[in-house]
Amino acid sequence: MKVPLLDLQAQLEYLEDDLQAAVSRVVKSTRYIQGPEVEGLEKEIAEYCGAGYGVGVSSGTDALLIALMSLDIQAGDHVLTTPYSFFATMGVILRLGAVPIFADIDPVSYNIDPVKMEEVLVKDTEKKIKAIIPVHLYGQCADMQPIMELANRYDLPVIEDAAQAIGASYPGLASDSPVGGSRAGSMGLAGCFSFFPSKNLGGIGDGGMVVTQNKEFAEKLILMRNHGAHPKYFHKLVGGNFRLDPIQAAALRVKLPYLDSWHKKRSENAAVYNDLFQKSGLVTQQNVVVPGEVYSGEANVHIYNQYILRVKKRDQLRDFLQNSDIGCEIYYPVPLHKQECLGDLAAGLSYPEAELAADTTIALPIYPELTNEMQQYVVEKIVQFYG
Ligand SMILES: *Cc1c(COP(=O)(O)O)cnc(C)c1O
Repeated sequence: MKVPLLDLQAQLEYLEDDLQAAVSRVVKSTRYIQGPEVEGLEKEIAEYCGAGYGVGVSSGTDALLIALMSLDIQAGDHVLTTPYSFFATMGVILRLGAVPIFADIDPVSYNIDPVKMEEVLVKDTEKKIKAIIPVHLYGQCADMQPIMELANRYDLPVIEDAAQAIGASYPGLASDSPVGGSRAGSMGLAGCFSFFPSKNLGGIGDGGMVVTQNKEFAEKLILMRNHGAHPKYFHKLVGGNFRLDPIQAAALRVKLPYLDSWHKKRSENAAVYNDLFQKSGLVTQQNVVVPGEVYSGEANVHIYNQYILRVKKRDQLRDFLQNSDIGCEIYYPVPLHKQECLGDLAAGLSYPEAELAADTTIALPIYPELTNEMQQYVVEKIVQFYG
């Protein structure tokens, strides 16, 4: 048996005709920049997230970048974030000449730890920290209630990196969102999404969106994504070309109605794995730690963009699974504070939980169309490895 990490072909079986029709609709419309598909998707995503405004952009990375640009983050400013994420979270800070400041992660959720954040904020006596970027890693929200309390106390804007978490819900903050809890992206000043094909809502190429509840901030984002121009050729700000392609918007509108059913399938697959790992004895033997859902209640939704195990002998297990035709990946092998591009900024930095996670975790296939037989095979192989 062959089990890929992600199988986009499997969803093409039922989506291809609609995707082709959507692309063709854009081609025939001759509206190749902005236009009704982009505006339609912006409304639909904003509504889905329980946020007021959606601003389509070229990628998740650019969503984060224009959010920071719209906050006027300048060279030399500090931005507080997690040391354990995809590179883009830190890359956008560095591109603006700003300095990433880290707080270590919680070992169960792998998300930034509010207690560690407070330790960092207390020491920031010169008030160099100008913004906070929590990441909802793997599809589960960071602990936003204490994070928002800190942000309010220190008067700092929060930009949620929700690239992996569209539709995830956090139970701890009151809101009028459709799911009782607060949806990822709707809790801070702004939330940033990616439509990279491997995310739960993936385009047929690059795309992203910023959502916000704040009208003024939305207006600034809209300027920023289009060279700061309003009206055309009158430039209030220096922005860039960060626009969302209408072909991507049209394709994403085909997929959006499926999103909640895909989340549900991923979550069911996670429960199947958890059960199989428990029964296998691997959990009791402490070879494997299954992912924890750190919040409880109905309003808690983990969308399982990734299913992450913490394991013994991680690198050998990865090689073994790859040799057994089972897709797996390490997200991420090098924590952000150890990236070579940081140069002198990395000197003396140490975040033990992020480093341990980078050395001991592995992602298994979790996509919606994965079958129970495939999951059984994956677990059997892992049992064989430790046996
Ligand atoms: C995917 C991702 C991004 C970047 O999104 P792109 O659309 O690939 O630019 C940013 N942050 C996190 C946490 C991501 O997973």
